[in-house]
Amino acid sequence: MANNESRLSALYGGTFDPIHYGHLKPVEALAKQVVLQQVTIMPNNVPPHRPQPLANSQQRKKMVELAIEGNPLFRLDDRELRRETPSYTVETLEQLRAEIGAEQPLAFIVGQDSLLSLQRWHRWETLLTLCHLLVCQRPGYSLSMKTPAEQQWLDEHQTTSVEQLHSHPAGKIYLAQTPMVDISATAIRQRLEQHLPCDDLLPPAVAEFIRQHQLYR
Ligand code: ATP
Repeated sequence: MANNESRLSALYGGTFDPIHYGHLKPVEALAKQVVLQQVTIMPNNVPPHRPQPLANSQQRKKMVELAIEGNPLFRLDDRELRRETPSYTVETLEQLRAEIGAEQPLAFIVGQDSLLSLQRWHRWETLLTLCHLLVCQRPGYSLSMKTPAEQQWLDEHQTTSVEQLHSHPAGKIYLAQTPMVDISATAIRQRLEQHLPCDDLLPPAVAEFIRQHQLYR
């Protein structure tokens, strides 16, 4: 039932340090392709053993709010930031699944780079029991998986049918034809550190917030 009544909801997790057009543009195209009414952006905490975000939780949250202001496709859910500890995606999805029930279709959006490293995520094999994966293309990342076992896992779950995303609650992987946007938060942070302009890489209100708060200097 891929129409306006569809209840397929989609989550988009990440550090968003800062949020940029590489996050927003591919997902806008994806939403048109698979008929998503709304995408929930969920910034996360980073586990202590990984490099920490340079902007704090409140700043990352504010930048998401500024980036999506006036854009009805997106909403923000700050539940992971409100926790003291880093949260595993699988646990957040379990919590959401408990809230929406077993039948409602739920999707988690990732970039191609994240799909390639997904099998290192905590309890990765549980993810597809909870949601579909919607994958955006990203320049520089292969379309095939790193090992034959991973490729087999992808082949088993991949669908090209938008209809299936709406008629099944979870379990499918959809590789979307999204525009290649060659932007990363790492590159933005590096440019800002070198006092190079970034205005065409992120929404103006986010660029202004970064300037005002002298982030990433
Ligand atoms: P960093 O450079 O700090 O690692 P990032 O730019 O990759 O950050 P994240 O917040 O880590 O951004 O990513 C959140 C999600 O957005 C991930 O699923 C990632 O694959 C996806 N993503 C980020 N940038 C792009 C892009 N340019 N094209 C497609 N997907 C992207």
